[in-house]
Amino acid sequence: MVIKQIKVGLDNFSYVIYCPIEEKAAIVDPGYDASKALEFISSKNLELEYIIITHYHSDHSSDCQRIKESLPLSKIVASESDGAKLGIDVDITVSDGNRLQLGDICLDFLLTPGHTPGGICIIVDNEAVLTGDTLFIGDCGRTDLSGGNLAQMFSTLHEKIMSLADHLIVYPGHNYGSQPFDTLGKQKPNFMLYFKDVMHLIRKLLCVIIFLKT
Ligand SMILES: [Zn+2]
Repeated sequence: MVIKQIKVGLDNFSYVIYCPIEEKAAIVDPGYDASKALEFISSKNLELEYIIITHYHSDHSSDCQRIKESLPLSKIVASESDGAKLGIDVDITVSDGNRLQLGDICLDFLLTPGHTPGGICIIVDNEAVLTGDTLFIGDCGRTDLSGGNLAQMFSTLHEKIMSLADHLIVYPGHNYGSQPFDTLGKQKPNFMLYFKDVMHLIRKLLCVIIFLKT
C-alpha cells in the first residue's frame, strides 16, 4: 500500500493511493488542479481506477470532471448526498461499511457528516485514514460553511473517529497542522475530540465568556 500526498493550491492536499503490484491508482480529492497527481500516475505507468471525492466543496472536487473526460474508464466515487452536489454523474456511491478493492488494497469507507452532510473518510488497508475536511492535524473541519452541522461533527468525531485504531496514519484534506500527517493515536487528545457532546462544549464556551467578562 502506497499513498502519495500532493499539495494543491495554497493548502489543499490531494492524494494518490496506488497498488504497485496490480498497477492501479485512485486519486482522492483532485482539488482545482489534478495535474501533479496525473503526472505521478503516468510516471509510474498506473491505471487510474477511481476518482474519490471526500466531500463536494470545490477546492476538493473541481478537477473531477476534467479527469473523467480525459480518462473515461475511471470511476467517480462519492457519498450519495455529496455526490448529488458535484454536478457530474457519480459512478459508485459509498456509505458506512462499504469496501472497494484497488488492486491488492482495501478501501473501507466511513460516512462522516459534520463538515458536509455526506463527507466520507477512507481507511486504506487498515494502515491509514484519509479524513478530508473531517479531521485535520490538530483540529477538525469547520461546521459554519455550506452544509456544516456542529452536532453531526461531534457525533462523527466521538462515535466514528475516536473508535478507530490508534495506529492509523491520518492524512487530512488541508495542510493546516504543524506536520502534514500524524498517527490518529497522537491526534485523539485534541481538545475538539475531548468534548463529550455539544452541550458540554457550549457550557465550556459560556464559562470562558463569563470569565473574560469578569
Ligand atoms: Zn471543505
